Amino acid sequence: MPRKKPQLERVREAIDGLNDQLLDLLNQRTALVEEIRAFKVEHGMDLYDPVREARQIQSLMMKNRGPMSNAMVEHVFKEIFRASLSQQMRKGTDQAPLVLERSGTPRIVDVGGVPIGGGKPTIIAGPCAVESEDYLEQVAEAFARLGLKFIRGGAFKPRTSPYTFQGLGMPGVDLLRKVASRHDLRVVTEITDACLLPQFSDRVDVIQVGARNMYNYDLLKKLGNAGRPVLLKRHFAATLDEFFQAAEYLLSSGNRRVILCERGIRTFENATRNTLDISAVCLIKEYTDLPVVVDVSHAAGRKDLLVPLSRAVLAAGADGIMIEVHPNPAVAMSDGSQQLSLGDFERYLEGIASFL
Ligand code: PEP
Ligand code: MN
Repeated sequence: MPRKKPQLERVREAIDGLNDQLLDLLNQRTALVEEIRAFKVEHGMDLYDPVREARQIQSLMMKNRGPMSNAMVEHVFKEIFRASLSQQMRKGTDQAPLVLERSGTPRIVDVGGVPIGGGKPTIIAGPCAVESEDYLEQVAEAFARLGLKFIRGGAFKPRTSPYTFQGLGMPGVDLLRKVASRHDLRVVTEITDACLLPQFSDRVDVIQVGARNMYNYDLLKKLGNAGRPVLLKRHFAATLDEFFQAAEYLLSSGNRRVILCERGIRTFENATRNTLDISAVCLIKEYTDLPVVVDVSHAAGRKDLLVPLSRAVLAAGADGIMIEVHPNPAVAMSDGSQQLSLGDFERYLEGIASFL
């Protein structure tokens, strides 16, 4: 027994030494990969070359004398190739994902002179869907009177059933812009297709990517040069890592004005429409500088929890709340049961006043 420890230590030392050599070799390899990247970029060549990768793995397996199995050789080298490729895809020298880049101060997203993040929480309220100018006017007039700066409302509604109200489309966005401008409110509305981008960029102050489109990477890439801030909602089945990676698509495509939105995730619990993930709010604050807004309406799917849920997320550090408000929820074309009437909304604001 007493002789085993020194032997174990010797083996461990040898492994440490090999780790150092492997690190050194992998860094030498990475430097060569960088040279290849520069060449390929200069000559407009694809960074990913699957034929060359397959050839390298084949050759390594033929030379393999063990004790590593060929399956392990394949696994390890595929990981090395994958890491090299993602390093090549990242421009610049700093390899940390942009979404996790911390400057020490929270990022403030300026929306036409109104900040989101870094200070007093922002309230983004409005109907689930844009339905009529009259309804919009009623909410906008009340919001301006209450000192709000934003109005939300969907004109392109990604509904579960194709037979339900799909939204007014561009005429709805026009209505939103018209009414919002009348009351000096900023417009937040959802985009569902990148082809709408030129029209959105002219009319919309914050472009919302809905939960269902969080995985629409093509749309996210195209929003990179939207020239407008993007409010990215978390998919109801997305891990936090997937949510961050979706934000990375926006950031790496050139749009630094990103606001994250937690809106509840799907769990076995059905007393609420979704389960509000308060930990996500804390973790977004812990790992990123980006502002985070919480959509309490879609999280709860009911009106009675909106005050306590809002208090909870504001206490957890949320930079804002998104909430659905409709002049006449009983006849709303969508999400009627979770939308607050204007009277309810005023009482709601009183209920969270000490957290604002
Ligand atoms: C919305 O905010 O109008 C909406 C549809 O929400 P989500 O994408 O979070 O379901
Ligand atoms: Mn809704």
